[in-house]
Amino acid sequence: MLRGILYFLYFLLILSFVRFVARSVGRLFGPASDLRRSGGEPRRSARQAEDLVRDRICNTYVPRSRALTAKVGGREEHFCSEACRDRARATVARAS
Ligand SMILES: [Zn+2]
Repeated sequence: MLRGILYFLYFLLILSFVRFVARSVGRLFGPASDLRRSGGEPRRSARQAEDLVRDRICNTYVPRSRALTAKVGGREEHFCSEACRDRARATVARAS
């Protein structure tokens, strides 16, 4: 009787271990295939729209990752190109 209970507990232990292994294997291979299936494209474009920064020189919005960041007059500003950055620096130099 006692042995039967021990066998049953042992069986439960193995079962939970097998489940644990199956879940960790699924976690290892699952997310990658999920990403490939959903494409990840809509999420990326949504994040880009969030991270737009304004170039005050030519009034365009540039993704933060592609914007040129420079300190102009002690303030950090974002520009679409070096030309805009130089123009901003020139206006600050003229003002002071
Ligand atoms: Zn610009």
